[in-house]
Amino acid sequence: MFKFDKIRLSGFKSFFDNVDLQIEPGLTGVVGPNGCGKSNISDAIRWVLGEQSAKALRGGEMADVIFSGTGGARGRKPTGMAEVSITIGDVDDENLVAAGVDLNFNEVTVTRRVFRDGGSEYFLNGTGCRLRDVQQLFMGTGIGRNSYSIMAQGQITQIIQSRPQERRMVFEEAAGITKFKQQKKEALRKLDYTCLLYTSPS
Ligand code: ATP
Ligand code: MG
Repeated sequence: MFKFDKIRLSGFKSFFDNVDLQIEPGLTGVVGPNGCGKSNISDAIRWVLGEQSAKALRGGEMADVIFSGTGGARGRKPTGMAEVSITIGDVDDENLVAAGVDLNFNEVTVTRRVFRDGGSEYFLNGTGCRLRDVQQLFMGTGIGRNSYSIMAQGQITQIIQSRPQERRMVFEEAAGITKFKQQKKEALRKLDYTCLLYTSPS
């Protein structure tokens, strides 16, 4: 149902220049020598999908994903900003509507930007949006931060060893019910708020 078409990295970790990666159908792996940036690519995907934990991206704080420069005679200076865009095709209409994206698009480009002060900006097809809209786009698809589609080294062990309640979240996402639970939570919150307004003296 989802098709990752391309990724663009700019100032993200070891990718100083604009790097465009075309994701051809049937791609099953990224190979290369140690330290060449394979994991940085999966970090970039995790990050653009809304990852909030710097630790999950192998950093101490969010600004650590910004290119920090290289030494040597041909060294490059650090950049002030990191940006990653991922273009996805064949997105379900239901997810597009939830994320507030115009249905005329059959491709969606999700962009995230971070500056040295740590603040993040998100865009859907070039229009600024909230993190929540990006999350809505992927809800129930198994893609997105904290879901099971991106497994880093050691995460399988972590899932096996986690508490049943935590493990349950993975199965619920796989079963496609996360979005309904989220909708229920929001509806209950709105109801609570309405009751509060109703009962409080004016
Ligand atoms: P391995 O085979 O060992 O798993 P890998 O191909 O997965 O290696 P990565 O972990 O993706 O490699 O890349 C590591 C490289 O990225 C290191 O050389 C590191 O210095 C560089 N790097 C990480 N963060 C930044 C940053 N913010 N700025 C510049 N370079 C960075
Ligand atoms: Mg690696």
